[in-house]
Amino acid sequence: MEMNNRRPPGTQADGVLVKTHPALCLGWGNCHRFGPTVYPLDADGKVDVHRLAVPPEHVEDAWMGAAACPERAITVIGQRTHSHTHDR
Ligand code: SF4
Repeated sequence: MEMNNRRPPGTQADGVLVKTHPALCLGWGNCHRFGPTVYPLDADGKVDVHRLAVPPEHVEDAWMGAAACPERAITVIGQRTHSHTHDR
């Protein structure tokens, strides 16, 4: 069977929605450090995304970044994947 990085729909979380709360963000940058594919920072070092649909391949970054935020300024809506497989 052929392996690739794209999982068929339904076998993993189908992506999540990320919402940030700029009023809470103090610019720690942890979200970007732990979830660089999902959370860009602006010139002030604050999270530079407000609402974002995150594709399945970046869901773990979405959760990691949100969990790392000391201000709880990030809400992730959706399912968390639990697998830590390394596709290759
Ligand atoms: S970790 Fe939280 S407080 Fe820090 S930049 Fe990201 S959203 Fe803002």
